[in-house]
Amino acid sequence: MQKSMPSQCNLLTSKDKPLDYLVIAFYHLYHLENPEKEVALQKKFLASLDVKARTYVSKQGINAQMSALRADGEAYMEWLLSRPEFKGIEFKIQPHFEHVLPRLTVKTKKELAALGVEVSIDERGTYLSPAEWRHVLESSDDKIILDVRNDYEWELGHFEGSEPLQCTTFKESTDSIARIKQRINEKTKVLMYCTGGIRCELFSSLLKKEGIENVYQLHGGIIRYGEEEKSKHWSGKLFVFDDRLAVDLSDEKAPVIAKCCHCSASTETYYNCANMDCNELFLSCSDCLENLLGCCQESCKSAERVRPFQHSHKPFRRWYNYANKKKDLCTLSPGQDLSKGHH
Ligand SMILES: [Zn+2]
Ligand SMILES: [Zn+2]
Repeated sequence: MQKSMPSQCNLLTSKDKPLDYLVIAFYHLYHLENPEKEVALQKKFLASLDVKARTYVSKQGINAQMSALRADGEAYMEWLLSRPEFKGIEFKIQPHFEHVLPRLTVKTKKELAALGVEVSIDERGTYLSPAEWRHVLESSDDKIILDVRNDYEWELGHFEGSEPLQCTTFKESTDSIARIKQRINEKTKVLMYCTGGIRCELFSSLLKKEGIENVYQLHGGIIRYGEEEKSKHWSGKLFVFDDRLAVDLSDEKAPVIAKCCHCSASTETYYNCANMDCNELFLSCSDCLENLLGCCQESCKSAERVRPFQHSHKPFRRWYNYANKKKDLCTLSPGQDLSKGHH
């Protein structure tokens, strides 16, 4: 029998705490001559505020995740809205009881989201509002539904009928496009979604450039969909790149779909291996986690540098610096910089 999950994710204790913080996500595509200048402006404004962030600026725009003390987050959003270049910017805002990011990072990046290819964003897929997205999912239209996030995000939760699509490297992106082309005719709707929408902006441009016509993207991503349509046609949890790691899409119940990589029991919790030289990210039930002392596999238990096992430490402070894209769906291995925009 599976025991209840350990309070690894902090979510379980959140009920009693005041929601004094805001978790804010946004991206904005606009042409910048000088990304360094914007980085300097951002840093200057944020310096006096209680804000943690992972903000990337490129010549194509800005992509940010942040957590902030409520008043400071509001001041920041007001500041952006007051600047003409950010006209039309949309924020996704979730109240929370603490910071979810370890530090304030604002820097330039060549790509706002890693697709392995440079993409012009002139011609993108057609936006579907959350309601329109639901209608298409419910329709009998000829369609394919592409999840353009990482496989391990899809594993934890996704739209019914969707398929994961590796597109973090040039080869993966071009292979994916070739496979899509083989499967569609001129009537097929190619639908895509990601966490907040930015990967779709880029990947849909890529598909259009490759001559695929009927490309649609979920506007505002999964986050906006959860706000407006709750968990309809969604299974599992939403993977997020901060301390929360997994969140419910809405207060509507969604079936659990992820499985322990050791025993296949239902679970929705990722851990990183207690062997610090391994640090793989894996889905595990609490029984298996305990049996393996927090390690991803038996051999890691006897490794040289193993963190003492505890259910409740804040394990993922830096995991995105180590985790790697993997073949095996239940684990990640060291090396890949997951802190790149995957949203
Ligand atoms: Zn298990
Ligand atoms: Zn391991």
